[in-house]
Amino acid sequence: MSKVRAADGKAQASRYAIPSRTVFLIEDSAALGLLLLHKIGEQTNVDVRWFKSYADAEAALIEQRPALAVTGLNLPDAPDGEIVDLLAEGDIPTILFTATLNRRARDRFSTPNIIDYFLKDAAATVDAIVQTIIRYTETISPSVLVVDDMASGRAVLVDLLRRQNYRTFEASSGAEALAMLAAHQDIELVITDYHMADMDGHELTKTVRARYAPDRIRVIGISASSDPFLSASFLKAGASDFVYRPFIAEEVKYRIQSNLETLDQIKHLRFLAERDPLTGLYNRRAFFEKAHHILDELSARDGEEGSVAILDIDHFKKVNDNYGHDTGDKVIKLVAGVLEDSCQQGNAITARFGGEEFVVLFTNLTIDEVQERCEAIRIAVSNLVIPYENRTLNVTASLGAAIMQASEGMDNNLNAADQMLYMAKNGGRNRVVYDAIFCRA
Ligand code: GH3
Ligand code: MG
Ligand code: MG
Repeated sequence: MSKVRAADGKAQASRYAIPSRTVFLIEDSAALGLLLLHKIGEQTNVDVRWFKSYADAEAALIEQRPALAVTGLNLPDAPDGEIVDLLAEGDIPTILFTATLNRRARDRFSTPNIIDYFLKDAAATVDAIVQTIIRYTETISPSVLVVDDMASGRAVLVDLLRRQNYRTFEASSGAEALAMLAAHQDIELVITDYHMADMDGHELTKTVRARYAPDRIRVIGISASSDPFLSASFLKAGASDFVYRPFIAEEVKYRIQSNLETLDQIKHLRFLAERDPLTGLYNRRAFFEKAHHILDELSARDGEEGSVAILDIDHFKKVNDNYGHDTGDKVIKLVAGVLEDSCQQGNAITARFGGEEFVVLFTNLTIDEVQERCEAIRIAVSNLVIPYENRTLNVTASLGAAIMQASEGMDNNLNAADQMLYMAKNGGRNRVVYDAIFCRA
């Protein structure tokens, strides 16, 4: 059985890299195999190779190292779970499904290559397996920072995390951990030891909490301490979880997963609360929230200027009347895309304010730069080609922009921009009016 490792000499060096997007499905039951094959094909981008016996799977493993194996426990030519040993020997990340789940089976499933296991008879098993494949093969996996002054302590956790395909970072002190969080904004979870020289895990947790909200970064404390109150004190300092060493890998795995899932759900809810459903842009409320922060920063840094612009599509009512509401919606989405592209250049945020009206807040740009950006937006809108039945149509937009007065509230600044918009409409539409021109005159 060592053939697997021998045939795959390079696999040790890049043990964690996913060399292929192929998943081996190993299952003799035609019904379950077909169902899995169908669902995996439907919901993921991986290539599936299906084997119905131990011998076939073994032969294939010599030729190819899959990204993942999904396997039943018993096969006609290997009735005692030998497939699990074969996959463990090859260190193949494995999702297992089984009909029995007793203590003995659990022990057997504790080999590090087993990503997860599921009960065969549960109705949701097939979906759970597919979800695990998606999570595992997804290109952007969550980033986790492991903090421990002992290299051996970090190694155990890093190994466990990488096997679940998380991206990992390591720090050997509190100070290093904080620097790493500042440098890697994508870190979502910190797992920290308690005893460390410069700053203990409790102190680190408090500092992380002071800098990052719990809906941005989760913290799990971990310690071999015999102090039964340590867990409570970690939680009080802002950790979302705590684990005593020595731990059971399976438990830590699920605690990590559950913390990251919670973050994901929060992110999803925030997205729904902040975004306009038609365009995906920020909605009015989110815009005001973000604008307030920006205004505060502007007034704190004397001399830095911001501008706010309102864009309104010209004669949009006619688009609806002549081409229907669906075409109107299409136009709104395309205009939103123009604004989003413009904001990609930096120093700007945009939102849909309602109907066919949008707003853009510019910061740290000169008056000329704001004018150029508004002009570019106007031109890009007029260049949009909107398909309608067998032909295409065009629209234009008017923009009013005003230099922000940090001492005035957002409402007053928007009123100023609105007055400029009114002038743009009155002046014949498809134009930008910026109050900065009047300042110059
Ligand atoms: P003006 O050039 O002066 O801005 O004229 P207008 O026709 O664009 O302005 P008006 O405010 O009279 O009409 C806006 C129309 O936008 C009226 C409303 O039915 C339509 N509208 C508002 N929200 C939506 C939407 O989400 N989808 C679609 N298709 N139409 C919308
Ligand atoms: Mg309009
Ligand atoms: Mg309007």
